[in-house]
Amino acid sequence: MTRPYILISNDDGVDAPGLLALRDALATFADTLVVAPESQQSAGSHAITLHKPLRLKERAPGVLACSGTPADCVYVGLQHAVTRKPELVVSGINDGLNIADDITYSGTVAAAMEGHLMDVRSVAFSQDHRRPVALEAAAKVAAKVCQWVLAHHEALPPEALINVNLPADVREDTPWRLTRQGIREYHRQVREHRDPRGRPYYWIGGAQLGYREVPGTDGVAVHAGFVSITPLQLRMTCDPALDVMKRLGLDEA
Ligand code: MN
Repeated sequence: MTRPYILISNDDGVDAPGLLALRDALATFADTLVVAPESQQSAGSHAITLHKPLRLKERAPGVLACSGTPADCVYVGLQHAVTRKPELVVSGINDGLNIADDITYSGTVAAAMEGHLMDVRSVAFSQDHRRPVALEAAAKVAAKVCQWVLAHHEALPPEALINVNLPADVREDTPWRLTRQGIREYHRQVREHRDPRGRPYYWIGGAQLGYREVPGTDGVAVHAGFVSITPLQLRMTCDPALDVMKRLGLDEA
């Protein structure tokens, strides 16, 4: 088999250690192209840039820094920078988990979503940020997961994109667990401060993060020391509501 071709991005920026470790691990079996944001874009979700130009800078052979968002990187990467259609889009390794409700805010997952929307199998990797982080082991596990996904691509439903979360102290032989998306418990905060001119400004987002203890979910698996692998889908229609609304006669008016 010829070497697979993998487009790599992230949301922590092109210089992030997680990206570099991932690239090195994937390069052991694949040809890689990195297109990643030139600056930190975490929690940027699936935004794309439509009202200002995007710039690409070559940082090294096969490594492009993009002035835009993670989704911009994958967009420009797949539609412009690749030399052929890749077998995979891989995002990460994010510095911090993307479990449960985090997925809706995540730029890491959004990069994989963009690859998925462009009909390329896509995988996102995120690791618990609590130091010390076993990044090299995480990258080796990520490479193994990517090889598994590539080997089973034909059998996997096309609508699945894969979200992987790794414990901070992951080892190469840490077992994998299939999981469902769980439920976060954020400690939401708004802190008000004053700028030097006396005007109020705000910081949002609390420091502590919890998750609901629902068996079989992503957060539970990672905190029990496993590699959590969750297949996600993007079609968002709420079928139960559709049924109820139909029953209530909404579309007969
Ligand atoms: Mn990030």
